Amino acid sequence: METTIINKTSFNEERGNCLEKQNAAIFISLGKKETEVDRTFLNEVIKALWRSKKTLVATGAGISVSAGIPDFRSENGLYNLVKERYPKVIMKGKDLFDANVFRDINSSQVFFSFMAELKLLIDKATITPTHTFIKWLEEEKKLLRCYTQNIDCLEKKLNMNSQLDKKSKNVNKIVQVHGDMDYVFCVICRANFDFNQEVIDIFKGGKAPSCSSCELKSEERERSGRRGLKEGFLRPNIVLYNEHHTNGELISEFISHDMRRKPDLMIVIGTSLKIVGMKNLVKEMAKKVHEFKNGKVILINKIELGKEWEEVFDYIILADCDQACTKLKNGYKIYNEQVIKELQAKENKKPSKTKNKNSNANLKFKMVKSTITVQKTKLFQTPLGGNIKESPAALLNNGI
Ligand SMILES: [Zn+2]
Repeated sequence: METTIINKTSFNEERGNCLEKQNAAIFISLGKKETEVDRTFLNEVIKALWRSKKTLVATGAGISVSAGIPDFRSENGLYNLVKERYPKVIMKGKDLFDANVFRDINSSQVFFSFMAELKLLIDKATITPTHTFIKWLEEEKKLLRCYTQNIDCLEKKLNMNSQLDKKSKNVNKIVQVHGDMDYVFCVICRANFDFNQEVIDIFKGGKAPSCSSCELKSEERERSGRRGLKEGFLRPNIVLYNEHHTNGELISEFISHDMRRKPDLMIVIGTSLKIVGMKNLVKEMAKKVHEFKNGKVILINKIELGKEWEEVFDYIILADCDQACTKLKNGYKIYNEQVIKELQAKENKKPSKTKNKNSNANLKFKMVKSTITVQKTKLFQTPLGGNIKESPAALLNNGI
């Protein structure tokens, strides 16, 4: 820990910041602004990733922009497209995601039309290097859980489990905290239906489909001579502002479960952390990660988030998500190769007697090298530091 503080101090001095900011996050720039100092600190992040066995990830709209889904809350987002279609309806972007949207026929029209446009974009969207990075964390058995604010379900295209029920805590890797666009549900009976083309077509016209389940129940009652029931309409399975979060308790259970698992790394990607729920979640989880001796909390975002976050994060990578995630993944692979080589060299230096004794170990070693999964084997459980030397920064500067 002490070393990190010294690094931070020297880093901040170099950046011209005052000394009392020494506990603040380290900023790392990538791309055109990238310097030798940035590369050194990026290597620290790579080592933290290498050490991690229980990584938490939190993501936001920023990771899906390159997939073809605009950050619809932003000024130039999808909302403006719908506004062009309904110029007379005066609404703020935020009002479109408020539960009160259904109180008024005009705002309902805009909402349904907007959801149709969004769903079409989601269906066409392609997965990004950032989504692939999260999947890779799962494959490397590092991913404890990814909490996403996104409703686009792109992780499903990578066969990642996003099932949200009590039994799935150990298999589910994705928690969609704001719901998803895979389903629509009835506002009265809560029956679920696929968000298919038929639903899209009705939404496009600014209307909502009626619920066939309610309709059926109502008809049955009428047949038996009773009064028919009120029938509900269908809306996307997303969470709006000022409404009860039906899965809120279940998500809290997932969070408590993950906290007990003692996460050792957290990576927050592509979010401005303005929504209160996510803001609190990240702060709580960051505290938990920092209880771990070498626990690190990392932000990858295009823009800075403000002073309140500088004590929450250890490293803030100011860059495009896809670029940063690709660099981390490639850097990890190079570093892992380096660790393997160093262990191999050490093994070869041992007296021949020991070598013969460990011939099986050498065989295992070759197998491990081919899959670049050094941490998965019993043979290389050694923590970073101690016997394993840190790789020179120059090594990681090439090809990342
Ligand atoms: Zn219904």
